[in-house]
Amino acid sequence: MAATSAPDTRKLRIAGMDCGSCALTIENSMRQLPGVEDVSVSFATESMELRGSTPAELVERRLRELGYRLADTAAGGTTPAAAGELRGLAGFLRFLWSQPRLRIAALAGIGVLLATIAAFAWPALPGAAQLDLLHAAVIVVVGAPVFSKGFRALLFARRVTIDLLMAIATLGALFIGEGGEAVTVILLFTLGEALEAYSASRARDSLRSLMALQPQEATLLEPHHDDHGAAAATLHYHQRSVPVERVVVGDRLLVKPGQRIPVDGEIVSGSSAVNQAAVTGESMPVDREPGDEVLAGTVNGSGALEIVARRPAGNSTIARIARLVEEAQAKRSPAERFIDRFAQWYTPAVVALAMLVVAIPVLALGQPLLDADGSRGWLYRGLALLIIACPCALIISIPVTVVSALTRLANLGILVKGGAQLDRLADVCVVAFDKTGTLTRGRPAVTAVRGQDCSHDDAFGAAECAGCDDVVALAAAVEGASEHPVAHAIVSAATARQLERRYRPAGAVTAVAGRGVTGELAGGQRVAVGNAALFPDRGSEVQALHGPSVAEGNTLMYVAHDDKLIGYIGVQDEVRHSTAAALAELKAAGTGVRTAMLTGDSPAVARRVAGRVGGIDEVRAGLLPEQKLAAIEQLRERYGTIAMVGDGINDAPALARADVGIAMGGSGTAQAMETADVVLMQDDLSHVPAALRLARLSRRLIKQNIVLSLGLKLAFLALAVPGLATLWMAVVADVGATLLVTLNGMRMLRAN
Ligand code: ADP
Ligand code: MG
Repeated sequence: MAATSAPDTRKLRIAGMDCGSCALTIENSMRQLPGVEDVSVSFATESMELRGSTPAELVERRLRELGYRLADTAAGGTTPAAAGELRGLAGFLRFLWSQPRLRIAALAGIGVLLATIAAFAWPALPGAAQLDLLHAAVIVVVGAPVFSKGFRALLFARRVTIDLLMAIATLGALFIGEGGEAVTVILLFTLGEALEAYSASRARDSLRSLMALQPQEATLLEPHHDDHGAAAATLHYHQRSVPVERVVVGDRLLVKPGQRIPVDGEIVSGSSAVNQAAVTGESMPVDREPGDEVLAGTVNGSGALEIVARRPAGNSTIARIARLVEEAQAKRSPAERFIDRFAQWYTPAVVALAMLVVAIPVLALGQPLLDADGSRGWLYRGLALLIIACPCALIISIPVTVVSALTRLANLGILVKGGAQLDRLADVCVVAFDKTGTLTRGRPAVTAVRGQDCSHDDAFGAAECAGCDDVVALAAAVEGASEHPVAHAIVSAATARQLERRYRPAGAVTAVAGRGVTGELAGGQRVAVGNAALFPDRGSEVQALHGPSVAEGNTLMYVAHDDKLIGYIGVQDEVRHSTAAALAELKAAGTGVRTAMLTGDSPAVARRVAGRVGGIDEVRAGLLPEQKLAAIEQLRERYGTIAMVGDGINDAPALARADVGIAMGGSGTAQAMETADVVLMQDDLSHVPAALRLARLSRRLIKQNIVLSLGLKLAFLALAVPGLATLWMAVVADVGATLLVTLNGMRMLRAN
């Protein structure tokens, strides 16, 4: 009964958010509604997750009151910009133009600029004196949505928002005759919001282009029997194009050369090189033939393929990845929540300061309210403080960086499940690796076989020895039911020795995690296959089966028939190509990362593998699954934040216990993908140091952003009180900080 999300949790799409602070406003005001238990609004994904029994009408009404509305769920994002490329300045300008509100603001800005220049150049021109009127008009047109949102939030949610501050500052400036400054404030504020919206739409775009990779249509192959006499026995197929949502598991589909594969499926005929870059990020095509799996969204090469659908379109790997990435973008990390709380404290504090700055000098000290004798009046200084109270840049400083980092990592084939996970990744001091399936390929092959009473000298299992064949056949009878890589190796060896007829699959097969398997043959005879730990009180007996040199190079599995030990099987696994380089990079000067190997395999084999790959500080072998957990606790105590890299076979609990669980996505189990914080889609170990590096870079950029946005604010706070900062300078500082923070955060999109 493990429901993944509570039944009263709703996910809604919201249209009309312009900035990071809008999300906070909505969130806080939803929290005031009766029956709302928890709510989280994401600007990056334009979505809201709401838990509680509040009626939908109430939620919708509050949204409307605040000036937002519910968007169509199916439509995904609401940004009208096309999902095409939106990069650089040209991209930003195109984005500006695609939104009516911003288009009007841009035209108004140009108009005011031209009119101002004209009024200065030709003061005698008729109408030059009417500049004030133009200012007022532009403020009304461009400012209307801002003012409306500001006053709505005050009225319906009793919240002082950034929009309200801007409204007061703009209208106040207009009121004291600073029309030019008022126009600058509202135009630049709108530009700042446009920037924020642009950076968020870039992130949404990359997500949407991911979903767009799944084709809309599939070519269904429908059987029909020929009516013409003798040919009636042959099966023919009709081709019919159907919407991809109509494809059901088991349908037979045709994928023509060069087409995108419509659903996850298995090839039944044909072979081709398939480019899986869309899903895994790996751009080298891989050869696929009958029996192989193909993924929706990947591109078929030059061969026509017939496939059988294995998953409905909505549940394809690529759709699941898209969901994971979107969820990751929507989740807020503890650091973000902290900044949000800080902003909620900072804004009212500066507003209070602004009121005091106006009230105290004017009322208590008899200073002028309005400008006089060439010095700034105190009302003007108070208005400047209102602009400085806007925490726009601060609020987006973390999310713009985190969302860009998550997007970049996803493009590389590294799925990080959220900002919190990214943050922990930056703290990692020690990385523990599982051996089988992680450092090694996880596709071991049998290299040694020996029956107890084998008379041959050859330790590696003479092919014609009946005793050795018995060992393999009995082992394969139980291993057929196991998913462990070792089990696959043993079953393949039985097939290679043509022993299929010599055994029947055993019943009552039980996996003993980290040790082996046991099962029962038809006559009730028992078979056990596993390492020495499976035979705890027969230590000397199993050792006596082989010499030390065999144990040195092979992972040994002993085979018992009823209670008699009848022999052993040795396997070896290849080290992954990426392992040595990845470890070297992790250990490279300056990273200070420690590495460890945690394995259930024997110490001798573990040492040999560690020696071969190099760069492993600590080897812990012979570990049972619960001992792996203890090892993780120990390493964490000794060195700090720990990441565990594994394939999910026998190590899912360890992945969950570590501060950051990193799963091999390609070969790993579905369960590992669920529990892990990070999934490596390409099984490329060099992505471990890459993820660490990018997480640390993102941490650095976040720090820079916070210092930048707070620093600029403090500087202007210090200038505004003595009347040295003008309104337009304050707003330039605000938008400038937003711009710098956004550009700095978006550097993650191109980071390596
Ligand atoms: P690792 O830590 O190397 O990934 P595991 O914890 O999965 O290893 O398994 C540890 C050891 O337990 C293996 O090296 C093998 O000796 C033994 N073992 C596990 N599963 C099986 C099995 N199905 N058949 C035989 N031996 C097994
Ligand atoms: Mg393993």
